[in-house]
Amino acid sequence: MRKISRRSFLASSVKAALFSGVGGYAFKGGVFAESVPWSNWSGGQTCQPAGRYDIGSEDQLSSLLKKTSGTIRPVGSSHSFSPLVPTDGHLIVIDRLSGILDYDAETKQATIGAGSRLGDLGDPLAAIGQGMINLPDIDRQTVAGAIATGTHGTGVTLQALSAFVASLRLVTPSGEIMDINSTNQDLLHAARVNVGALGIVTQVTMQNRESYKLKKREWAAPTEEILENFDELAASHRHFEIFPLVYSDYSLVLSIDETDEPIGQIEVEAVPSDDASIAESLGLSDNPTPAERRRMSNATASRIQATESVDVSHKILSNVRNSRFNEMEYSVAAEVGAECLREILKTIYDEKIDVQFVLEYRYVGADKDWLSMSYGEHSHATISIHQIAQRRLPPLL
Ligand SMILES: Cc1cc2nc3c(=O)[nH]c(=O)nc-3n(C[C@H](O)[C@H](O)[C@H](O)COP(=O)(O)OP(=O)(O)OC[C@H]3O[C@@H](n4cnc5c(N)ncnc54)[C@H](O)[C@@H]3O)c2cc1C
Repeated sequence: MRKISRRSFLASSVKAALFSGVGGYAFKGGVFAESVPWSNWSGGQTCQPAGRYDIGSEDQLSSLLKKTSGTIRPVGSSHSFSPLVPTDGHLIVIDRLSGILDYDAETKQATIGAGSRLGDLGDPLAAIGQGMINLPDIDRQTVAGAIATGTHGTGVTLQALSAFVASLRLVTPSGEIMDINSTNQDLLHAARVNVGALGIVTQVTMQNRESYKLKKREWAAPTEEILENFDELAASHRHFEIFPLVYSDYSLVLSIDETDEPIGQIEVEAVPSDDASIAESLGLSDNPTPAERRRMSNATASRIQATESVDVSHKILSNVRNSRFNEMEYSVAAEVGAECLREILKTIYDEKIDVQFVLEYRYVGADKDWLSMSYGEHSHATISIHQIAQRRLPPLL
């Protein structure tokens, strides 16, 4: 039977693209902009703010907040699926507060403008010998936005990005500039995962590490086979996660580990997998029953070949998502994660729920930030469910 690579399988847009997306709806402009509609990345959240303040300095922000009344919401790159940003008041944009402001070669800490996109930091950090300890699935988020929501990557011992914030600067709603660090642990735990409710974070000092290379391996395997050994697999890799296919017994599997190997890719010969042939092999074109979908999906998944690639950490950890979707994520104690995942997959199958996107199942290290999804003593399992976004959005600015 014809073999396909995991990459070409994911790249195909069978009925819906399984992953992928393009960035958010970014604002560019002067100090004050007139009312322009706002939408998040997926189009699931919208609002008509009275205006936007495009901030150029902390002093400007502080004096603005001192003299302004009414609702203000900070916005990053608008990648949150939850209604954290929508307002009919004003949005505060800090895109211009970006870049590496300072660093310490000994402690491997770097102070970063909170409006920086995660993806714009990889190369400059590597140039000063540093790498971020972990990253989420994509890197288009701002540092401020990612921290405010407890955005996390994968890794049973690796916490959410907020946990690597050694200190941050917050401009409070009354315009006071506060530097918050571990000398006041309660304040730090409250201020890191803040969902934009405490004020505007303008800069963040991140605990990084020496720059490093990672080796990624991707393959497909029966979901049950992986779930039975998930704890061991998660403990034996720096990053380990699965993307369970719905209406299928298979998952796409991803492991990532540190390496000294040279940068490069070991790719299987890419076999073209056009939509029509995959749709045909999945049997999706004729309104198939769940059992037919499972049979055809298993047949397709079993043809996915393993791929490996080595690169600097930030190029391995984050991906590009080319189709827009909405997502919800559950965070549960790791020991009940597999059971929850099985129940979700069974519910989708039994109730014939129209989902095409893969799920995502991973472990995240526990932290102490009050509003963090991973708050507690023990690592959490997170289960993400995606549904294709229905709305058509304007092209990105
Ligand atoms: C394709 C895609 C993949 C994703 N992958 C992951 C993943 O792997 N792991 C994960 O955990 N999440 C993931 N997310 C969710 C995403 O990381 C979070 O929603 C994150 O908050 C988005 O950052 P942002 O810059 O877009 O913030 P926004 O969505 O713009 O804002 C998020 C929150 O931060 C606040 N905020 C923004 N700027 C500031 C500021 N300067 N000061 C104070 N508060 C501020 C806002 O008020 C809001 O409450 C993903 C989202 C998408 C669309």
